Amino acid sequence: MQKFDSIVIGAGPAGSTSAYVLAKSGFNVLLVERGKVAGSKNVFGGRIYISPLKEIYPDIEKAPVQRWVKKERISLVADGCLTLEFQHEKTTSFTAYLSKMAEWMAGKAEEAGATIVTEITVDNLLVEDGKVKGIVAGGDKVYSDVVVDAEGINRLLLERAGFIEKPKPENVALGIKEVIKLSKKDVEDRFGLDETSGMAWLMMGDVTKGIPGGGFLYTNQDSVSLGIVINLGGAIKMIKEYAYEIVERMRESPYLKDYLKGGSLVEYSAHLVPQASYKLIPRLYGDGFVVVGDAAGMLLDLGYTIRGVDLAAYSGYLAAKAIEKAHSSGGMTAENLSVYEKMLKESFVYKQIEKFRGTERIFSDPRIFTEFPDAVTGIVKRMFHIEYESEKLLDNVKKVKGGFFRFILDALKVVRSL
Ligand SMILES: Cc1cc2nc3c(=O)[nH]c(=O)nc-3n(C[C@H](O)[C@H](O)[C@H](O)COP(=O)(O)OP(=O)(O)OC[C@H]3O[C@@H](n4cnc5c(N)ncnc54)[C@H](O)[C@@H]3O)c2cc1C
Repeated sequence: MQKFDSIVIGAGPAGSTSAYVLAKSGFNVLLVERGKVAGSKNVFGGRIYISPLKEIYPDIEKAPVQRWVKKERISLVADGCLTLEFQHEKTTSFTAYLSKMAEWMAGKAEEAGATIVTEITVDNLLVEDGKVKGIVAGGDKVYSDVVVDAEGINRLLLERAGFIEKPKPENVALGIKEVIKLSKKDVEDRFGLDETSGMAWLMMGDVTKGIPGGGFLYTNQDSVSLGIVINLGGAIKMIKEYAYEIVERMRESPYLKDYLKGGSLVEYSAHLVPQASYKLIPRLYGDGFVVVGDAAGMLLDLGYTIRGVDLAAYSGYLAAKAIEKAHSSGGMTAENLSVYEKMLKESFVYKQIEKFRGTERIFSDPRIFTEFPDAVTGIVKRMFHIEYESEKLLDNVKKVKGGFFRFILDALKVVRSL
């Protein structure tokens, strides 16, 4: 019978970080990943916030960073494109390929002594006498004192074990991403960047044809990551085409196409994103198991930014620390592992999710993604698009269903939820 101190399911940011911290503390760890190599199944947009990761990985700057984000853009797209640009010298985030970052993190776990097996899909949590005692993969049972479930948002194992139900479509989003290869010079010239600086560009409105969500573009060394994140509930109700066509149209839009001219599509991926994360938090621990990362709902989608990687990794780190404590308290009982929930609730991760709970309500109102950008770009268009007569700036707002009052309420709704 094979037995480990701990088995970690999934070599994403959450799982690899747990495995790394546990292995460093002397635990005998097995990290199981279904992809060909760690990182091969992971999908994200492109930006990682560094501070929480630096606490776990003091040498994070040696990780495969693409560019340091020093330029931020947010655009409202309707009949015209209104862009707000912000530049900062002291950046707190960098762009990366998640495949490379996850590979780097798994490498750290391996260096620390974890055993990594790839191309193995865990079929089930091994539950005996109401306790999680290991995993079942390809008909084999592998035992461990504790299992860290870091399987990501699909959560099939938690569902099969009867710990959760399928998420409601309105609580998750669909992300689709393309990587467009350009030359390094083109990336720097077109986006006004130097050798190491990068840009994060978020778009809202017509880019998703009014489906609640938005578009993103992140610059890498010699490519850009481009895509959309759309609320699944909204998409089911409103979509009239294939989802990939939305990204294609975004790539061809007059506001982006010159930036991408001559580029070639080198990567395409799609993935779910926890959106109403507060509503997705499962039972976080039990006899012999803890749940971390996206599987635990540890993601913050504020529309203008998505924070998943740092929160996932930090929850994985806290889970490992909680397992160490449970070990010193006598074993991996639910009672001893409850310290994980306590530590998580005291951490910035949970506090952030709690602070912004309710933000997802804006994703349930398509008007905010149609009439609002339309009204705002309409005001600006009236300022600059003059043929003979100038028009009253607010005339456009009167066309919004519900008029000016409704427009102000919508604006307040967006601002208050953030
Ligand atoms: C389109 C998109 C854009 C995003 N943009 C950003 C962004 O810009 N910044 C940011 O910080 N976050 C972003 N995110 C969120 C971020 O990607 C996730 O929050 C983060 O990857 C979660 O890490 P994780 O380790 O919990 O899960 P994952 O990264 O999903 O890793 C789970 C791992 O488990 C493995 N696995 C699953 N089931 C099994 C099984 N049964 N057996 C074995 N292995 C299994 C998978 O192969 C995978 O490697 C984005 C997500 C998407 C989809």
